[in-house]
Amino acid sequence: MRPEILFPLFTPVTALKGVGARIAALLEKAAGPKVVDLLWHLPREVIDRGEVESVQAALPDRIATLSAIVDKHEPPADRKRPYRVLLRDETGFVTLVFFHADKRYVGSVLPEGERVAVSGRVETYGSRKQIVHPDYIVPADKRDEIPRIEPIYPLTAGLTPKVIHKHVRQALDLAPDLPEWLDPAYLDRERWPGWREALETAHAPSSEGALSPLSPARKRLAYDELLANQLALAIMRRRAKRQSGRSVQGDKRLRKKALSALPFELTGSQIQALQEIGADMAAETRMLRLLQGDVGSGKTVVALMAMLNVIECGGQAALMAPTEILARQHFETIKPLADAAGVKAAVLTGRDKGKGRAALLEQLARGEIQLIVGTHALFQEEVIFHRLMLAVVDEQHRFGVHQRLNLAAKGKAVDMLVMTATPIPRTLMMSAYGDLDSSRLTDKPPGRKPVKTVVVAAPRVEEVVAGIERQMREGAKIYWVCPLVEESETSDMAAAEARYADLRARFGDEKTALVHGRMKGPDKDAAMARFADGTAQILVATTVIEVGVNVPEATVMVIEHAERFGLAQLHQLRGRIGRGDKASTCILLRSEQMTETARERLKTLAETEDGFVIAEKDLELRGAGEILGSRQSGLPVFRLADIALHGELMAVAHDDSRLILERDPELEGERGRRLRTLLYLFERDAAIATLRSG
Ligand code: ADP
Ligand code: MG
Repeated sequence: MRPEILFPLFTPVTALKGVGARIAALLEKAAGPKVVDLLWHLPREVIDRGEVESVQAALPDRIATLSAIVDKHEPPADRKRPYRVLLRDETGFVTLVFFHADKRYVGSVLPEGERVAVSGRVETYGSRKQIVHPDYIVPADKRDEIPRIEPIYPLTAGLTPKVIHKHVRQALDLAPDLPEWLDPAYLDRERWPGWREALETAHAPSSEGALSPLSPARKRLAYDELLANQLALAIMRRRAKRQSGRSVQGDKRLRKKALSALPFELTGSQIQALQEIGADMAAETRMLRLLQGDVGSGKTVVALMAMLNVIECGGQAALMAPTEILARQHFETIKPLADAAGVKAAVLTGRDKGKGRAALLEQLARGEIQLIVGTHALFQEEVIFHRLMLAVVDEQHRFGVHQRLNLAAKGKAVDMLVMTATPIPRTLMMSAYGDLDSSRLTDKPPGRKPVKTVVVAAPRVEEVVAGIERQMREGAKIYWVCPLVEESETSDMAAAEARYADLRARFGDEKTALVHGRMKGPDKDAAMARFADGTAQILVATTVIEVGVNVPEATVMVIEHAERFGLAQLHQLRGRIGRGDKASTCILLRSEQMTETARERLKTLAETEDGFVIAEKDLELRGAGEILGSRQSGLPVFRLADIALHGELMAVAHDDSRLILERDPELEGERGRRLRTLLYLFERDAAIATLRSG
């Protein structure tokens, strides 16, 4: 149960004074539905309201706050003209200007002969100084109501700065003093303020500098958020470890058969990964391991060996891929090896329907099918396993945390292996998985030649086509990737179709093929097959091939509008070539106009093929916000911390949480109880519920 002290923060924003349904909707859009969300809504900049002594001292084009006497009202002669009010002090005059003024309002806030304080941007109009629509007008004795330094909050349409400021202020006033959960020595060393004070400072920055994410107040708040994240993950992890798994140690008879059917030797890192996976599976606890390795590094074979291990023990194994193409491709790799081992394998995707599907599901439920490869279709309720013991999820670069758990729920104590082709920067990985065990495939299968990558300006596309023509005469296979147009799948397709028409006119029907996301499954397969095994030498494609294809003979890839792709995505795409033993080339066609970041991305790609280096660079260029921000990423979204900037804090929070739980596993001690408050504050209630005295 959430502690009472936090109740005021966890009420809807409508609990605040002056917040009705309309404002609540706006606040919810800008910050969130609860009072606590307003606390996390930090200002983006500050306005210095530039207190000045006199009218004379007020500089044009600056914001100034001054006090003066209302000299005279000049109501407009007609509605087109503005309402003017003249103010004066000992040094001169300043005119306040109101368009479409409400006369009653202007009259009431600016009574003639009274002294008032005003604040706004000063302009010169002819020889006069004026302020159009002042931000603040108050009686002189209430000058304090005009903030000297005003925080500017991220807004949403319909929400004014004043309104959000007012309500954030109210939220701050509701924020209680909470007992310190950080280690006092650490707090001291970092010279961080307490939580309440940090919050006040972050919302009332005294200068631009105080807005920096690296200011003590902001760092403190970021650390709190990261600690809550890491502590929650560590608690969940301890619980998962406690849950009984089972020891899986097959007799290797199937694996031996499959291995001898392999046309190659396993690489060193494949062998090592298999040892790590084997040890996890042999342990009494459940396995949750990440297998990271670039596209083409040979993850499928590793997964297969792990799957055969459970099958040797009489269990079933499932491998789930994010797309249909990829599922079928995994299946094609696996099928002959499974056959060699005498294991019955099948594939299930959304495309399977009717009797065939029903029969397959029955065989699966009876345990006749021992190994199944599929897409999300595997989550469907009708999919029942006889004895699922291992789930492998190939996430490529999609992190689907929840789906993973769904699949595991289809069996008891299911071991879990998650494969990802985009290496995840360490800090990001920590934020999503905490202490997740991970194996990395670092060496590519032997004999692979590096891919040469060149960046070419778009107008030189003719030269590129001519170069391709030469290569085609020597039998080369070429991917031609067309740009992703975010706004519409249709124009995406149109670009690919136009390029396809172009190339087909030049090279003929036989030699060209087209595949895009809108095509029907069988048509896609047919086009792919023509490229993989048939006469087609050029495959024009939208990014559907990104996670799809394995054609080792393909040695050239052209990517149009390469500047529009993300770094990770380009890396993925490029991974489709350089899979065979011939040298490969990747040509990045770029527009004349490019942002600095895009330039940097293409440069990185031309310089390295190391996925781990690329992942770190991607994080640096995009900022964690962008990587984490997208909902479907499945990664946590931080409100106060920025992983790209606060990476070090994440590491500290990680170690801190381990230490905390070693000393006080159930969070029952004095500091433990305070940390529970922290967890509730960041809505990690689920983690607390798993503690013994939750
Ligand atoms: P990933 O899934 O990591 O992208 P795959 O498992 O599809 O990579 O492997 C890519 C290709 O490399 C496949 O054709 C596979 O048969 C081959 N391969 C895998 N391991 C090795 C190895 N040790 N030596 C040679 N080729 C390998
Ligand atoms: Mg085990």
